[in-house]
Amino acid sequence: MQITEIYKSLQGESTYAGLPCVFVRLTGCNLRCIWCDSEYTFHGGRKMAPEDVMDEVSRLSPGGGLIEITGGEPLLQERELVPFMQNMLDKGYKVLLETSGERPLHKVPPDVVKIVDVKCPDSGEGDSFRLENLNLLTGRDEVKFVLSSRADYDFACDFTLRHNLAERVNAVLFSPAFRKDATGSRDSSHCLLDPQQLAEWMIADGVPARLGLQLHKFIWDPAVKGV
Ligand code: SF4
Repeated sequence: MQITEIYKSLQGESTYAGLPCVFVRLTGCNLRCIWCDSEYTFHGGRKMAPEDVMDEVSRLSPGGGLIEITGGEPLLQERELVPFMQNMLDKGYKVLLETSGERPLHKVPPDVVKIVDVKCPDSGEGDSFRLENLNLLTGRDEVKFVLSSRADYDFACDFTLRHNLAERVNAVLFSPAFRKDATGSRDSSHCLLDPQQLAEWMIADGVPARLGLQLHKFIWDPAVKGV
């Protein structure tokens, strides 16, 4: 597996937010979102045998716990990743998989929690979501929309209602995008869409979604990696 980093922190962007979690960040992405804060994953990394990745996860979180597979786009390494995730499940870990939903999801083991980040128009990667994946989402999965404008919000509302997402998945998350060069203060001034504005729209419209903030960006300097 080509790995950018493995570290322990708090999960920051789902209904699991706030829980201790080991992150396994895979190298490589086939998308180029305008506000991407993970461009350092596009290249480089180090080749690791899946057994060595498992050993590192076990060292950081012995005996189980939460593990998030992220990237980049982890499913670009599907051949190695699928058996790895199954092994982690068999060892008693709760496994979250963060993916854009552009790659097919049918080989993902059923007990993995898929957190699918459907790209909105102003990400520059709108229309990248593979619609066939909708039928593979279950009540344990979550769908996230990272929003940087009113147009993104309208898209997310329409997608949520048109595909009846609130009935299909555990949670629908609307989250303001952060400036990718944000640094210094740990507050919402770095958000491309003001969370207060987003909250007011959601309240007014009664959207069946929950507002999510990237917790780690309010705890650590937004420029810090590996947290
Ligand atoms: S899918 Fe994720 S890693 Fe890839 S460009 Fe978009 S935000 Fe960055």
